Amino acid sequence: MKVSVDPNKCVGQGMCVLYAPEIFTLSDDDGRAQVPQQLVQADHEDAVRQAMQACPEQAISITE
Ligand code: SF4
Repeated sequence: MKVSVDPNKCVGQGMCVLYAPEIFTLSDDDGRAQVPQQLVQADHEDAVRQAMQACPEQAISITE
């Protein structure tokens, strides 16, 4: 699975970081979510799916 965040949709706040802190971080510059490593290991996939569902802006995309 690969994950990405659309910076044009993300508004910060960090719901994704709550669900998958190993995958998402918030930028110190603008507070938006970042994904340092787009390739998600299998044991983090469920958390990433939950983060995607929890994102209020539908900013998170995954490809299987
Ligand atoms: S939950 Fe969505 S809007 Fe909020 S920081 Fe994460 S990607 Fe951005």
